[in-house]
Amino acid sequence: MIEPKTFQPISGQKLLDLPQVRALPADTQFAMRVVATVLPFRVNNHVLEELIDWSRVPDDPMFRLVFPQPGQLEPQVFDRVAELIKAGADEDTVQREARAIQTQDLNPHPAGQLEHNVPLVDGVRMDGIQHKYRETVLFFPSQGQTCHAYCGYCFRWAQFVGIDELKFASREAEGLASYLREHPEVTDVLLTGGDPMVMRTRVLERYIEPLLTLDHVQSIRIGTKALAWWPYRFVTDKDSDDLMRLFERVRGAGKRMALMAHASHPVELEPKVAREAVRRIQDTGAVIRCQAPLVRHVNDDPEVWADLWREEVRLGMVPYYMFVERDTGARAYYHLPLTRALEIYREALRRTSGLARTVRGPSMSADPGKVCLDSIERIAGEEVFVLRFLQSRNPDWSGRTFFARYDPSAAWLNELQPAFGESKFFFEESASAVQAQSRIAESV
Ligand SMILES: *Cc1c(COP(=O)(O)O)cnc(C)c1O
Repeated sequence: MIEPKTFQPISGQKLLDLPQVRALPADTQFAMRVVATVLPFRVNNHVLEELIDWSRVPDDPMFRLVFPQPGQLEPQVFDRVAELIKAGADEDTVQREARAIQTQDLNPHPAGQLEHNVPLVDGVRMDGIQHKYRETVLFFPSQGQTCHAYCGYCFRWAQFVGIDELKFASREAEGLASYLREHPEVTDVLLTGGDPMVMRTRVLERYIEPLLTLDHVQSIRIGTKALAWWPYRFVTDKDSDDLMRLFERVRGAGKRMALMAHASHPVELEPKVAREAVRRIQDTGAVIRCQAPLVRHVNDDPEVWADLWREEVRLGMVPYYMFVERDTGARAYYHLPLTRALEIYREALRRTSGLARTVRGPSMSADPGKVCLDSIERIAGEEVFVLRFLQSRNPDWSGRTFFARYDPSAAWLNELQPAFGESKFFFEESASAVQAQSRIAESV
């Protein structure tokens, strides 16, 4: 039996009232206050009580993932805010400064997310829909744009907003369904956020039910970190049983429900309630696929990933992607060079059986597509990165290999130079053509 818990979020500056935080040194508390002024913060009672080992703070990986860390802001940015607060500046002034930092220093919308991927129908932008890869449409239900707790490295931190209306959900869902009726090439719809699992079941079903009538939609995916941040969502919340019935209806309609679980560290899967959640989800016929970014201070250790993948396989889940941390927000604190990411991926993979080797990575979700670093080789006397498109804006690029000059400090695709004296990567010419085209489309 799992004891129900009531969801209790703690956000923003309220973190300073937590007894666990008040027990920390005064300068740590002040640093948290500074960082939480600029970056969104949210934790909840499950994370506080069951995931963070407070005897290991400040080194505990879940603590580092959720709680504000001084290194998340560049020192000069940190000092700007710290000085304002120390000088006793009023709330408006502090907030204005925070806003300026968010828009100028933290690259709020990486990989051209806002500009390039939103489709137009009859000249109208279909907000909430991103269609970048032919088979898969990404959909952002407006009421699923927050999470049960926030990860410090979130690349969607800039979009945390909230509204609450069933009517709105239905209208949005209608827009999605009519877009899909015009696009028979789409087999997968991926609901994402934020975290769509923050929505009540009766809201979620407004989005999912219309998809069940579309023959060409085979899989409905939900990107979520609720298995880690709030597994009670699937087990003891008031509408958990209704949620399981909804997942069953997806299977009943001949489609596959895939939960794309964001799993950063094996401790997330330890609580009994998390295991019960996995079992209940699987009993509905849904499959759970797991993915997470590789981040410094949290999971930059091959043993952590090997444990994570082994545990996922043991619980019947499928390791799917290992991502490279994106170029946004608190990246300076979390990022790792690609060379280290590859080492960790390979070393972890070596420690697992073939069942865990369904995981692909280290993968960058960059503007031209998902690019994975396969290996470092010496070819014709030159040390090179061997890279490959797993997914691509242009479907013809998927599966293609290309080469970049070895660079021990590079951490993202745009920091790489073509190898063998080439002046461009093969996809760069046509990529700029695609962008020019979408600019034209948008200006019509
Ligand atoms: C990763 C991703 C998808 C899903 O790609 P799969 O390889 O099918 O899992 C879809 N759209 C965007 C924009 C993505 O980044």
